Amino acid sequence: MIPLSLAEVATAVGGRLVAADPEARVTGPVEFDSRKVGPGALFVAFPGEQVDGHDYAARAVAAGAVAVLGTREVPGVPMVLVDDALPAMGRLARAVVDRLPGLTVVGLTGSSGKTSTKDMIAQVTAGLGETVAPPGSFNNELGHPYTALQAGPDTRYLVLEKGARGVGHVRYLCDVVPPRIAVVLNVGVAHLGEFGSRETIALAKGELVEALPADGLAVLNADDPLVDAMATRTAARVVRYGEAAHADVRAVDVTADVRGRAAYTLVTPEGSAPVRLALTGPHQVSNSLAAAAVARELGMSVTETAAALGALRLVSTRRMDVFDRADGVTVIDDSYNANPASMAAALRALAGLGEGRRSVAVLGYMAELGPFERDGHLEVGRLAADLGVDRLLVVGEPAAPIHEGATAVKDWGGESVLLTDQAAAVEVLRSELRPGDVVLVKGSRYRTWEVVDALRAEAT
Ligand code: ATP
Ligand code: MG
Repeated sequence: MIPLSLAEVATAVGGRLVAADPEARVTGPVEFDSRKVGPGALFVAFPGEQVDGHDYAARAVAAGAVAVLGTREVPGVPMVLVDDALPAMGRLARAVVDRLPGLTVVGLTGSSGKTSTKDMIAQVTAGLGETVAPPGSFNNELGHPYTALQAGPDTRYLVLEKGARGVGHVRYLCDVVPPRIAVVLNVGVAHLGEFGSRETIALAKGELVEALPADGLAVLNADDPLVDAMATRTAARVVRYGEAAHADVRAVDVTADVRGRAAYTLVTPEGSAPVRLALTGPHQVSNSLAAAAVARELGMSVTETAAALGALRLVSTRRMDVFDRADGVTVIDDSYNANPASMAAALRALAGLGEGRRSVAVLGYMAELGPFERDGHLEVGRLAADLGVDRLLVVGEPAAPIHEGATAVKDWGGESVLLTDQAAAVEVLRSELRPGDVVLVKGSRYRTWEVVDALRAEAT
């Protein structure tokens, strides 16, 4: 972060100094875990349900914290007192990014692929200048300021995903860290339970492009009509990406190799170049195009961009993580989470990878679909049948409509089954898997990754 005096911190957060030297300097980091505090740090005390950060205030100061940002006085501890520490941390982050004119903030949102694409964009910008991007998602009112506060005078790019939990949420996150480049990936049915309809989800996600300044850039997925239509909601320039003919940054002649890794020709108004991705799954074409559009805005040539896309590697785990076991079984670990769109993407990847091999899908429950829950699961089952998955193991009663949807399409001859839990799935796989099989494991909130871990532990 950039050094700030406690007086500046207090002004930024709208707080009051108690028992603190206004001239004392916070040099960072800003931490809410007292174990990470060192000299120069600012410790943020949250009044948690289980543990109250204020109980660790003295310990943080002993470890070198310059002061504690919190909501009640702690005897003998220099404090920046505020009403609510979370928005205060947001205001502090805003003050820091406002003091960094050389910083370009890239924000992205969407129903699926935020973390994957955030990692891609950060890998591209890291080749251009110092980049700060969080590990994993960090996409809420805590992760945002926490990550932004790590930006310093030498930081050129800050890449943040914005999770939308409701209308107004992304707008708030954009107040904390205003983006100059905003990427909207897709509008699916993830979190439909909280939103009610896809249109409301689009409304919430579009707040990202509404937050852009006139000299900013909106990067929109031309293949998703609800995203495409967001062009009318921004004062900024618009660049579209996708396979659609009207996209500015396009992928044409898309193919996939035996590992499901896509290759395509990247076409831009400035020229075209061949791209060969090292990442599995057809959806990575779309995600990589979003990264290409950002690279183009930052001045990279189409050849440089194509090379950078080819160099992209998976950073966040359990997202289309493909590994081969010593016994010749290929496993696709996509167990991080699931919604109908990402299930569809993963099943397509399995179908591609499984061509000429036996394909096995181990699918669990998809959380947070609200009224779309039953239909969402049925749809995934139908798709598994349509794509010709050979063996379908549906894990857990809540996911039962996947099995129902699958068996409604065709007679599986017993190859689609509903299993009680992960252990049962592991049992079946243990007795059945043969060299050459390809296994996809995916679900959300149902610990389907335990199946992957069991598969990894065996015969690797
Ligand atoms: P979260 O809301 O949990 O933070 P996210 O939007 O960050 O999720 P990722 O973690 O990148 O998304 O990916 C989640 C799942 O979606 C993975 O299974 C991944 O393979 C899949 N996925 C990634 N990109 C896309 C895409 N463009 N379309 C559909 N599915 C995708
Ligand atoms: Mg994420």
